[in-house]
Amino acid sequence: APSLTQSDPELAATIAAENARQEAHIELIASENYCSPAVMEAQGSSLTNKYAEGYPGKRYYGGCEHVDVAEQLAIDRVKKLFDCDFANVQPHSGAQANAAIFLSLVAPGDTVMGMNLAQGGHLTHGNAANFSGRHHKIVPYGLDPVTGLINYDEMERIALETKPKMLIGGFSAYSRVKDWKRMREIADKVGALFWVDMAHVAGLVAAGEYPSPLPHAHVVTSTTHKTLRGPRGGIILSKGQSEDFNKKLNSAVFPGIQGGPLMHVVAAKAVAFKEALDPSFKTYQKQVVLNARAMAKVFIERGHKVVSGGTDDHLFLLDLIAKNVTGKDAEAALGRAHITVNKNSVPNDPKSPFVTSGLRLGSPASTTRGFGEPEMAQVAGWIVEIVDAMSAAGDVEGVIGRVRGEVEKLCARFPVYGKDRR
Ligand code: PLP
Repeated sequence: APSLTQSDPELAATIAAENARQEAHIELIASENYCSPAVMEAQGSSLTNKYAEGYPGKRYYGGCEHVDVAEQLAIDRVKKLFDCDFANVQPHSGAQANAAIFLSLVAPGDTVMGMNLAQGGHLTHGNAANFSGRHHKIVPYGLDPVTGLINYDEMERIALETKPKMLIGGFSAYSRVKDWKRMREIADKVGALFWVDMAHVAGLVAAGEYPSPLPHAHVVTSTTHKTLRGPRGGIILSKGQSEDFNKKLNSAVFPGIQGGPLMHVVAAKAVAFKEALDPSFKTYQKQVVLNARAMAKVFIERGHKVVSGGTDDHLFLLDLIAKNVTGKDAEAALGRAHITVNKNSVPNDPKSPFVTSGLRLGSPASTTRGFGEPEMAQVAGWIVEIVDAMSAAGDVEGVIGRVRGEVEKLCARFPVYGKDRR
């Protein structure tokens, strides 16, 4: 059969260009990572051809004997990884896993309490534009405007006043350890279910570098492609729940919101979970946290504001309000220097979510390519130079050009895939 380059040169060239971008740019988007060639091999396999509606041993299609093994491996490995007794590995994405939670555990119109999107929550935790916010009454909680930390007394006060049916832990942008135990206590006080979406910190949790929500939450969801470094996808986990409860979760995924599972992705999840069970994964996650801290330290030392005052995980928010630089402009300028970040709202942000006054910076991807603390400090220093030049209306393009040259040299020293590139 002809190769992709022969059959579709236009698309092959696009993939080659993206490969080159991933090698030559420094990736600081906190939700991204580089998965292994083995994960990509499984994901690019013949399992993409197979229909397997249902669950291992209970399928609506014949010929499932091998994909059953793949899915069971994924289930067994992820249960071991997170020390839990139920896992659904079929959600196509994090948002799908979260949709299954809403479908199975609350009813339309029910009150649900989640972290405000503008203060670190995720769209699927109740944003008005998302199904979660469209079909439920959402009560948001957020950060203390002075400390940038979650105020649990305030969370409890709101919960007692509004009596949510479900309390959501988890976040897309919070650099401190969330108190899962306290959140469960608050949920128990008002008779709410406690659901944690650990998408951002799942890899840290797997490696014991961030407290696991599983001993406290009724149910936990995650993506598999962020710190966990697997293929793009979602999972649902629980521990100590009834068979009936877990059955409801399974039924919500299929037939509730999905048809056939993406068996090639399920297989790739199994590969990623095996990698995460290896001791080297713990070393990696430890470095992820050290690297995020090394970056945050540079910003603080050089007069920049880090929301919450630092980081205990893989990310932090840089608050640019005092620098009078927008997140949108900073993201674009850094992009021209081949440093990839995303703009992000910060507490008390005067700008809209499309402009913002902040950046979200994360260490998972650059740690995977081998950066240690010296490289991360160097990168943070370049970001400071560019943002400060913007703030002082200096020679911004001159600084960008110089930094881009340095970025090129650093990336060449730390290839992501090199010859292993698929
Ligand atoms: N949950 C959290 C906390 C997230 O940060 C994200 C994605 O950024 C998601 C869910 C959604 O995952 P997906 O993009 O796979 O739907």
